Amino acid sequence: MPPTVALTVTRYRPERESEPTWQTYEIPYRKDWVVLDALNHVKDNLDGSLSFRWSCRGPIRVEPLDYFPVVRDLVVDLTDFMRKLKQVKPWIIRKEEKAPAEGEYLQTPDQLDTYKQFSMCINCMLCYSACPIYGLEPSFIGPAAIALAQRYNMDSRDEGKAERLKILSEHDGIWQCTFVGECTKVCPKHVDPAGAIQQYKLTSATDWVKSLLLPWGTR
Ligand code: SF4
Repeated sequence: MPPTVALTVTRYRPERESEPTWQTYEIPYRKDWVVLDALNHVKDNLDGSLSFRWSCRGPIRVEPLDYFPVVRDLVVDLTDFMRKLKQVKPWIIRKEEKAPAEGEYLQTPDQLDTYKQFSMCINCMLCYSACPIYGLEPSFIGPAAIALAQRYNMDSRDEGKAERLKILSEHDGIWQCTFVGECTKVCPKHVDPAGAIQQYKLTSATDWVKSLLLPWGTR
């Protein structure tokens, strides 16, 4: 006998019951089944009166990421992103390196927490594919690269903020973003690139105002 499993389902037929009840069906146990398969089995083979709604199981179409050249099937070419990533200098920049004998650069858990969210990026490129600005203007440096730049800016060990700001304040940098916010909505790692871009804009604007008020030097 093939193995079976008891599936207990709420029944409520208002024309004949005043309260919901439970009904149990003996159904085949199949490792590849999800709950919907079990319900469909009941409906098709055991009890056509069981009613349920479902929205999944429609046709599924899988396509390569939008806005990237396709290499083959679902594989896209990430050369453009890799170039942009390098541009924002996603590494710790020090004005003067410590000698190895001086030990490591230490950081408290609170200091780590300030940038941790931006370091969770897995380079999946969903944010680029969801960004209408990148779709219209491929020179836009893009959400993940800016989020990563901000990750290093907020790192207590880093001293490269001014260098990155110069790059990101250029024409293809942060100012192309119109804050549509789709990048943050689609990010599977909750990196919040849109938030990083807004932080960057604020820093850049503050820097500009300071340069007007203190033209002899702001840093
Ligand atoms: S969607 Fe999120 S995880 Fe994916 S590349 Fe963009 S920032 Fe990184």
